[in-house]
Amino acid sequence: MREFDTIIIGGGLSGSSAALNLSKKGYSVLIIEKEALGNIKPCAGGMASSMQQFLPLNFDQAIESKIKNVEFRWKSSDNVTADLSGESPFWIIRREKFDKLLLDEALKYGSEILRPVKVEKIISQNKTWIIKCSNKDTYKSKFLIIADGSQSQWAGYFNLGPRKPKFANTIALRLKGLGNIPSDSVRFEFGFIKYGFAWAFPLKDSLNIGLGTFINNKPLEDEALNNKVIKSFGFEDSSFKVFHKRLRIWNGIHKLNGDRVIAVGDSASLCDPFLAEGIRPSLISSYYAAESIDQCLSNNKNDLNNYSTIMRNEWGKSMAWGKRIAQIFYRFPKTGYQLGVKRKTAPKRIAQILSGQMGYEDIAKRVINRLLTKRDD
Ligand SMILES: Cc1cc2nc3c(=O)[nH]c(=O)nc-3n(C[C@H](O)[C@H](O)[C@H](O)COP(=O)(O)OP(=O)(O)OC[C@H]3O[C@@H](n4cnc5c(N)ncnc54)[C@H](O)[C@@H]3O)c2cc1C
Repeated sequence: MREFDTIIIGGGLSGSSAALNLSKKGYSVLIIEKEALGNIKPCAGGMASSMQQFLPLNFDQAIESKIKNVEFRWKSSDNVTADLSGESPFWIIRREKFDKLLLDEALKYGSEILRPVKVEKIISQNKTWIIKCSNKDTYKSKFLIIADGSQSQWAGYFNLGPRKPKFANTIALRLKGLGNIPSDSVRFEFGFIKYGFAWAFPLKDSLNIGLGTFINNKPLEDEALNNKVIKSFGFEDSSFKVFHKRLRIWNGIHKLNGDRVIAVGDSASLCDPFLAEGIRPSLISSYYAAESIDQCLSNNKNDLNNYSTIMRNEWGKSMAWGKRIAQIFYRFPKTGYQLGVKRKTAPKRIAQILSGQMGYEDIAKRVINRLLTKRDD
């Protein structure tokens, strides 16, 4: 039976980046991925450039657009434009390219991948994981990373993350051409989708469009309305093929590690419950998961608790406010749009959120402060 320092379940963005971080430190890693090939992910690819610090890899070739403006609209009008000045802090990456780069680099540093293979059983024996797989082989590892995404089967099995996960209902599609979206802008369209919004993020030659509902488990079943929203981005033809995905979103601060096991990315319910930002928490969690496992392996310890603490401080505290903001904004979107997006200082704040310079916690504190001091900040 082959033994690895770490086995990772799921070879998406989170699993591959955890593998890369660990194998670059010299550890043996096996990724077990259930799909045969890297499928196109239903993801618009928007990412704060500051995330580069969490990846030991140059991924320039996966960046397709550098965004200078963020447009907000209410039912195709009442525009607000936020200027993302400075060093293009928000990028659009082509996910299939990005994921492949990550995986290839992890393999280059010695990680191995089994695909298409499913994990069937996990047993803990003498401080080691015994992993039985659908290829009838069994593998051993000292540590285990759960990175099996939104439909995670294993996070719940190990009691990692919320007991009752919450989901956003989303639709994703990619259309040829950019419609009416400038190549250096992204658009957030509010008002059409109840309890959510629509977004359009440009790649070089095509547009990633997404629709999502974030509260009340509202399905996106009004096809005529969905088509109208998609067409509002400047497309005449309505013969588009859409992908539906239930995206696991943040739902409270919970333990993300157990004894010798850690959950990362979507499987850990880290995705932003207001704007569906999941790349950033996937990269942050995979980075700190690798750091925690490294500390254990190099000091012969098993305690991964500092991982959950770091994720609570670095991400969870901000998301707690993100969830509150989502609950209010999506219930009263018109008021939210007028008071939140159309404020004089909003464009600057929005730019700071997208670039990762500011979290929802900072925004909330400013609002509370403003209410207390009646300042216009
Ligand atoms: C419509 C849409 C638009 C989005 N747009 C953005 C955006 O613009 N910016 C942003 O930051 N985020 C965005 N997100 C969120 C982002 O795509 C996710 O947060 C991110 O993909 C999470 O990566 P992951 O590796 O955790 O999960 P995934 O990428 O889903 O990878 C999980 C992997 O695990 C594998 N797997 C699953 N089960 C098993 C199993 N039992 N055994 C082995 N392997 C398994 C899967 O095949 C998959 O390869 C969007 C999401 C959606 C749905």
